Amino acid sequence: MAITRLSSEERQQRIDEALSEINDAVANITTSDEWRNYLDWQAKFHRYSAGNCFWLMSQAEKRNTELDLVAGYRTWQSMGRQVRKGEIGFKVLAPLTYRHEKTELEKENDRTYAGWQKGTDGSADPDKDTEIRIRGMKIEHVFDVSQTDGPPETLPHNPLAVKPITGECPAKVRQALEEEIMARGYTIEVVSADTLNNALGNTQANIHLVRIRDDLSPAASAKTLTHELAHIALEHARSDPQSECEAESTAYIVMKHLGIDTEEYSFGYIAGWTEGNTQVIQRSTKTIQLGSKELIDRLNARITPVTADPLTSPSLHRDRQVSLGTPAPQRLAL
Ligand SMILES: [Zn+2]
Repeated sequence: MAITRLSSEERQQRIDEALSEINDAVANITTSDEWRNYLDWQAKFHRYSAGNCFWLMSQAEKRNTELDLVAGYRTWQSMGRQVRKGEIGFKVLAPLTYRHEKTELEKENDRTYAGWQKGTDGSADPDKDTEIRIRGMKIEHVFDVSQTDGPPETLPHNPLAVKPITGECPAKVRQALEEEIMARGYTIEVVSADTLNNALGNTQANIHLVRIRDDLSPAASAKTLTHELAHIALEHARSDPQSECEAESTAYIVMKHLGIDTEEYSFGYIAGWTEGNTQVIQRSTKTIQLGSKELIDRLNARITPVTADPLTSPSLHRDRQVSLGTPAPQRLAL
């Protein structure tokens, strides 16, 4: 079994197939029952004011953690989940309310108000003798979902959640990726997760620097380098839904061509950034096609052509066994 190069038509066909896989996956994720269940569940959570959100974020940053969904102790209990003993809550400001007995004049005002505002606002209900008023603000404690325990059905699966990429990466692929990034004038720095705020990597075009995390599997690290390389090749100026969709789609296609499957991570990532809007992908089709083709060609040229039989070639054979599980010679067509 020899590894052969793909013809340019075959390569184009593979790129187009991979692109339609991304499109279908994103469309399926956000029309699934799983997604609707997840949205219904999320809708049960209180939406905090911008001020509270900002305060929560800064507390999370100080504690070097991230918040996903927060709710009060009793709200979690009502949803079948229990805040773990010893967990420290996050502070939010909540209105301090009291029940006010309305005067005759206030009732009369409410009747007049209701006459011309036809019950659009429950705050001045002419049929009630009392109303809730705000006296001031108080501090309440809320807990993140990660601080709670409960049966699995109380925690619907988020179909946009990405799974970490595991597995190996052939040394030649890794080397080709690094060379290609450096050939474009960029330096690569491997840094801790905190430095990147838990992102897998990032690119700073102004100082020509690519940073990636030091705690990733070899396959995840290679995928991240490819994502950053795509940002560079496609000359993205900022991180937004369009540029993230283009970079990750390109990385998925290039990685797939190089024999590393990243769909468990990439599809959720793209669906998350595009919020399931496949038009974002369609708008970028040409860019993704051209970007993938360019990177595949350039990486292929850097990877020494394989002439040996892969079953007797120790390095490739080992890599393929580890990263792919089952032999897929067409994926190894470098
Ligand atoms: Zn990115």
